[in-house]
Amino acid sequence: MNRYLDNYNYWNDSRVVSAMTTRYWKVVQVGYASCIVEFNEFFFEELVENGIFSEEDSCRKEYSGSWGICNICSGSGKVVNPNIDAGGISDWSEWDYEEREAYFSGRYDQPCPECRGSGKVLNPNFPKDIQDLLNEWEEDDYQSHKEHLAELAYGC
Ligand SMILES: [Zn+2]
Repeated sequence: MNRYLDNYNYWNDSRVVSAMTTRYWKVVQVGYASCIVEFNEFFFEELVENGIFSEEDSCRKEYSGSWGICNICSGSGKVVNPNIDAGGISDWSEWDYEEREAYFSGRYDQPCPECRGSGKVLNPNFPKDIQDLLNEWEEDDYQSHKEHLAELAYGC
């Protein structure tokens, strides 16, 4: 068994990536079709620097939103602890009957960290200038995550 490949699969797992990704905003309150979003201080500073907000603005804003299926758990609200099966289970033969039962009966399930078990997420409709900035920042993060993955794959 290739230890580095195991590592790679673990860190490349969408559940793990989701738990690790820096969030520049979070939904702090959800209404019928709108939500209150709180920007973190780094991103808020960036918004101020770009003249989108002023220093006196609150880091909380209300936006309309659209409901969508959570793409981490595909709407089920549950995920299997990625320590168990990230990258697929390779050694079924080493599992005894009881362990397999436990796996399929959901004993290793945990509430989805993304949607907190609801299976759906409200995606705020950010104005274009904010969305563009977010895309930029997230693209940067994604690139550095990928570089980190490449290092793991080569066993650095
Ligand atoms: Zn979910």
